[in-house]
Amino acid sequence: MEYEGQIADIAIVRDLTANKQAELENRKLRDKAEMASRLAAIGEMAAGIAHEINNPLTGVIGFSELLATRGDLPKEVMADLQIINHGSQRVVEIVKRLLTFARQNKPVKTRLDVHELLDNTLEFRSYVFKTANIEVIRQYDPKLPWITADPGQLQQVFLNIFINAEQAMRKVHDGGKITITTTRKDQFLSIRIADDGPGMTPEVKAKIFQPFFTTKGPKDGTGLGLSLAMAIILDHHGTIEVESEYGQGTAFTINLPLDSETEASSNRTAVSPPIKASKRTASIMVVDDEEHICQLVSRVIEQMHHKAESFNDPTQALLKLESDSYDLILLDISMPGMSGLEFYSRIIAKRPELADRVIFMTGDMAAPGLEARLKQTDLMYIVKPFQPAALEQFLSKVLKEQLG
Ligand code: ADP
Ligand code: MG
Repeated sequence: MEYEGQIADIAIVRDLTANKQAELENRKLRDKAEMASRLAAIGEMAAGIAHEINNPLTGVIGFSELLATRGDLPKEVMADLQIINHGSQRVVEIVKRLLTFARQNKPVKTRLDVHELLDNTLEFRSYVFKTANIEVIRQYDPKLPWITADPGQLQQVFLNIFINAEQAMRKVHDGGKITITTTRKDQFLSIRIADDGPGMTPEVKAKIFQPFFTTKGPKDGTGLGLSLAMAIILDHHGTIEVESEYGQGTAFTINLPLDSETEASSNRTAVSPPIKASKRTASIMVVDDEEHICQLVSRVIEQMHHKAESFNDPTQALLKLESDSYDLILLDISMPGMSGLEFYSRIIAKRPELADRVIFMTGDMAAPGLEARLKQTDLMYIVKPFQPAALEQFLSKVLKEQLG
């Protein structure tokens, strides 16, 4: 009897431990799920806010810039306008960062400027770099085209390489130097990030891309950074390579493919040489439920000496298209009542020749499926908020192709 009881006791003890273990595992899973859903919720909120901000922001930027180019305003007014302009540009940057964050977990590829993304990522570490006495040297090739990539994922790759470099350099000296070099190599855009840290032994170098390989303590490393980077870069049809000698520093080189699509980057806001205006007057339809966007876009079109006709109501615009023809249609994607995409499918059902004359205006590339849809069908689009100069450049280019 005594013997059996003892066994029973032991069994109970073991059971309790197993229970506790299971409970712990469960809690871990729950925490993880909770974290994931919290991140998703923040992402959704960020995307929502960004979307709401982009429409009014397009008006603020656009009209302040149009005023600034008038040339007949007193100096003080110009100075005030500058403040409005700078302030709104800062808001543009903040919204962009919000969107980058919101897209983090979904692989959403978009056209992007690698330099801008590198700078944005460096911004995250700027305080740490400053206090750790780390100097960042940028050798950017200014003529690089944009690429098609997921900004959130690429940012993750860059960030991990920066943090690795920072941790490595801190080990051997006070401060250090990170050199970022971008170049074009045939059909690839190449990004090289070099540090003057301790470098790696051949044994370590051979294993760095393996999941869970780390030489750091549990507080500093998970060993997942570079394996994730490898997965992301492969997903982008690129390559990631390392050069490192023990005692000589380390350099990572990422090569990302350029495609023909990226050559004709549409939403580029950087100022490049003006494109010559097309020969004849074009007539352009503008459809946006926001009155001030219609006004802004029409103003830009009129300044280019083309004819603009704007519609706040997509149904009215459709009606008009039954009788009239346009060289181009600038179309907002999200409108109450009828979305831009629905509008688009309705016009091409009736007038297929208009299919390649539509330019979408969108304030939210993070909207699920939208980007894919635009890419898949090879549609033209411009992202809000855009500067009047960028819109003008884009329109000139498209009109030149269409009208010659
Ligand atoms: P973690 O940073 O969590 O260790 P990573 O996958 O990012 O995981 O890196 C794996 C290992 O590669 C690091 O533990 C380190 O030994 C080595 N490593 C990565 N970058 C550098 C670098 N810039 N200099 C020296 N060693 C590096
Ligand atoms: Mg790391």
